[in-house]
Amino acid sequence: MLDPTTRNIKFLPGVGEQRATMLNRELDIHSLYDLLYYFPYKYIDRSKVFKVSELNGQMQHIQLLGEIRSFEEMGEGASRRLVAHFTDGTAFVDLVWFRGIKFVKNKLHLNKRYVVFGKPSMFNGRVNIAHPDVDDAALVKLDGMGLQPYYNTTEKMKRSGLNSNAIAKLVGNLFQLLTHEMQESLSPDIIAKHGLMSLDKALRAIHFPKSLKELQAAQYRLKFEELFFIQLNILNYSRDRQKRYVGHRFPKVGEMFNRFYHENLPFELTAAQKRVVREIRNDVNSNRQMNRLLQGDVGSGKTLVALMSMLLAKDNGYQACLLVPTEILAEQHHATLCRMLGNLPVRVELLTGSTKQKERTPIFEGLENGEVDILVGTHAVLEDNVQFHNLGIVVIDEQHRFGVAQRAKMWAKNNIPPHVLVMTATPIPRTLAMTLYGDLDVSVIDELPPGRKPITTTHIFRNRADSLYTFIRRQIDEGRQAYVVYPLISESEKLDLQNLEDGYKKLCNIFCDYKLSKLHGKMKPKEKEEEMQRFAKGETQILVSTTVIEVGVDVPNASVMVIENAERFGLSQLHQLRGRVGRGASQSYCVLVTDYKLSEDTRKRMEIMTSSNDGFEIAEADLKLRGPGDMEGTQQSGIAFDLKIANLARDEQLLQYVREIARGVLDADPTHTSPNYRVIWERLRTIKNMRNWNWGAIS
Ligand code: ADP
Ligand code: MG
Repeated sequence: MLDPTTRNIKFLPGVGEQRATMLNRELDIHSLYDLLYYFPYKYIDRSKVFKVSELNGQMQHIQLLGEIRSFEEMGEGASRRLVAHFTDGTAFVDLVWFRGIKFVKNKLHLNKRYVVFGKPSMFNGRVNIAHPDVDDAALVKLDGMGLQPYYNTTEKMKRSGLNSNAIAKLVGNLFQLLTHEMQESLSPDIIAKHGLMSLDKALRAIHFPKSLKELQAAQYRLKFEELFFIQLNILNYSRDRQKRYVGHRFPKVGEMFNRFYHENLPFELTAAQKRVVREIRNDVNSNRQMNRLLQGDVGSGKTLVALMSMLLAKDNGYQACLLVPTEILAEQHHATLCRMLGNLPVRVELLTGSTKQKERTPIFEGLENGEVDILVGTHAVLEDNVQFHNLGIVVIDEQHRFGVAQRAKMWAKNNIPPHVLVMTATPIPRTLAMTLYGDLDVSVIDELPPGRKPITTTHIFRNRADSLYTFIRRQIDEGRQAYVVYPLISESEKLDLQNLEDGYKKLCNIFCDYKLSKLHGKMKPKEKEEEMQRFAKGETQILVSTTVIEVGVDVPNASVMVIENAERFGLSQLHQLRGRVGRGASQSYCVLVTDYKLSEDTRKRMEIMTSSNDGFEIAEADLKLRGPGDMEGTQQSGIAFDLKIANLARDEQLLQYVREIARGVLDADPTHTSPNYRVIWERLRTIKNMRNWNWGAIS
């Protein structure tokens, strides 16, 4: 029997070498299977006929039934065109051809009934249809045409005749070949219980639906299947890992933890912090390796949770490592931990790309003989020459900067993999978290420390900047400080820097009686640190910066965050930046500055930012606006988001539903041997063996 997953597309009738190359390159279609799963992006109902008098320039493709009354050739050169005056008795519309004029004129006749199909547009105040399909009405059976599929193609493809219609023909040829019913991929009980269409029928119907109802049933079946196998795979993987990896046990809550908690902690933990610490203690005392995702909005106090988890390791004779994405953040975390620990005998070291060789030697020694208790560092820690004596826990701050691959690298630093706590302030919408981190347990700090006032966010246009400067001045005079952030605008670092420099100069002029700091990624680490410190100590009042301050930086006295060119930022980034203020007890402000002319999308983002302070709400909105492929972190996550039909933003309910079904399958058939589920396991293997298998991180 023909196996579409392996049969090369070039053997399909109508394809051949040349078109195969085009399909490979432009659409990543290599096998018959790839084409089978290349679904239409829309359908047009060809049983509906519009009246000419109903037409307007905003319509999508429509169909008309009528006659051509006269032809007219107009224009010169590039604008030379043939116009056919077409009517159905309600009004006239111009059908226009710029190419193949002679051919069209020969083929079409006056006063004969035609079905015209095309997209109306406006030209010189009149509706016309350029290059429509025109068919003899006597030969077209309109009510039999049903929904016509439309496939995305590229300009290159269109130029060589591989347009949507041509793809539809190829798919038709493919179904001619598939004479046997296609192999079902879900078990009979699941199909029956959830009222699913068979795979064979669904694949045929998704390309050539006979009715809207049939199309919807096919879409549901295929979405179901797609999400089901993703969830089955990830749940299976995480069960497997739990079975395989024993974890270090930290049974003791010992001296360091207790002394820190009772003597050093300057404030009460929030209820949410307490709960999370409890969850972590349960994990690390369970004999299994912990893999926990800690989500907490900016300022919710994750660092403290990290520190207490690391002290648990110390108390049980293990080392800990705190991984952060930037040097500034590493330095700041290092300083914070040292300050919080005070005189407790805990050795904390810092390792970044710019740690000098001379300083490295004692750190490396201390790591290998176990004298260093906590290592704070950047990517530099991942290098192979960094070896621990006995690494018990790794905390990864601001996860979205670290991919799954890096997580795995840390695991390999011990025979028994260390516990892993991943912290993120960019809340990941539930659907995405379930798909990306289905193997992680999730804790949430859903409470801010007491006394925080919600940040007031406003959006202003650049021409109102004067009042903004007055406002900043007032805040500074009250003893507060301000950030002004510039985005990366161009591809070129030089130009971006120019943008920052210009802004800095302008602000220096306006605020000539104050001191300003400047910070950007191209500065030497030492300079960065110095500038940051000057601001943190209150020696400067305004910090002009690029987005290097985006994550983690903590200056509680800063109360104003101005974001220049706010239209250039995504929602989660705006929220992150805003989180740099509102960390002390005073009222804080975030001001988004944009051009006057905004796209619809930007307007929405500004609206969401000014109306919500809730990171989760913002992340959900972001997912809806941008789609999962653009969400921060997903590119590095190892899952390329080219889901073929499901949409994580829209199909959340279905995702949760199939997750439970997948869980049920695993519970019922943990050894993958039940005859009932044979087709399912076979299918999972096939998907994972496919060339473009892209859930790579969790294979
Ligand atoms: P984030 O979750 O964004 O990493 P941090 O850990 O930087 O937040 O904490 C933000 C600020 O809140 C810090 O200055 C920290 O000392 C303070 N903080 C943390 N927990 C509490 C608490 N329970 N009560 C009061 N302040 C707290
Ligand atoms: Mg933090």
